[in-house]
Amino acid sequence: MSSDNPIEIVGLRKEYGGFVAVDNLNLSVKKNSFTGFLGPNGAGKSTTLKILTHLINASSGEAYINGIDVTKDPKAALTNVGTVVETPEFYPYLTPRETLRYVGQIIGMNTESIKSETDRILEKVKMLEWEDKKLGTFSKGMRQRIAIGQALMNGPSVIILDEPTSGLDPRGQAEMREIMKNLRNDSNNLTVIMSSHVLHEVSDLCDRIALINHGKMIIQDDMSVIEKSSGKRRVTIKVESTPSPLMTHMVEQLDNVVSAERYGNDIEAVVEGDISACVKFFKDISSLNIGAYGVSEEDNLETTYLKLIKESG
Ligand code: ATP
Repeated sequence: MSSDNPIEIVGLRKEYGGFVAVDNLNLSVKKNSFTGFLGPNGAGKSTTLKILTHLINASSGEAYINGIDVTKDPKAALTNVGTVVETPEFYPYLTPRETLRYVGQIIGMNTESIKSETDRILEKVKMLEWEDKKLGTFSKGMRQRIAIGQALMNGPSVIILDEPTSGLDPRGQAEMREIMKNLRNDSNNLTVIMSSHVLHEVSDLCDRIALINHGKMIIQDDMSVIEKSSGKRRVTIKVESTPSPLMTHMVEQLDNVVSAERYGNDIEAVVEGDISACVKFFKDISSLNIGAYGVSEEDNLETTYLKLIKESG
């Protein structure tokens, strides 16, 4: 196995009864990357991550972490790996500090390391304020921060997360994103794979994408490559008064514009082509007499994602 890929999945297959949920899947997660693991509902993401963390067995194929096959030697493969894959259950009568101490004991850390790691992690997951309160009183967002915290115990080199912000309110999602961003910025030896449906979150955090559908790999590459691969950009044009149908039509008639529609007080347009097409578009918009005062590019990952999923059937 390549030392550049702490996670390597080869020809993975999982059948539930006669149904194939993961179908000859190959996935390589590059060292020190943050990889967004994407795909529609039922694509097979959780199944893959559960096999990778040895919560379920594969029907066939191999899944390596740090060069060790999880299907053959799960204990060794999962040493130095932090996971949040199924909704974690914690003892409600323990505090965050006691919970992390308990996790430290289970993974065989000594008392001194447990103390220093607990201090470090409670700060990282912004739990110092509640370190001595019982988990039973915590919100879902707070429990999820503890879940991330337990995954960080003993400084793992690989972290596997299944929809870390799922079910959190906007504030909880933003807090979780900030924790993950800090993790990315502070660590120089950390490989993360996280499944998510929140594409702007993935754009924000990840530098690699692996996209699956019907249990098969569609594409895995750098975010920058994937974002450009649709050849289309979604842009928002801010106009000083509510856009009229005529204004939207005028935008739609511009060169390289595939479509334009009113969206609230803005006009959203899809522009096709390379950077020079965009340069021309920006010039054309400013010379159009529609009171445009701002143009911004939207999340390209969504445009590409929708195109690739549609093509993959
Ligand atoms: P989501 O984004 O909705 O969480 P997912 O990509 O994680 O979806 P999986 O949960 O891996 O998808 O499910 C893949 C397919 O396998 C789905 O069709 C699902 O219904 C099916 N499946 C998952 N677990 C089981 C199970 N225990 N028994 C039978 N079928 C299952």
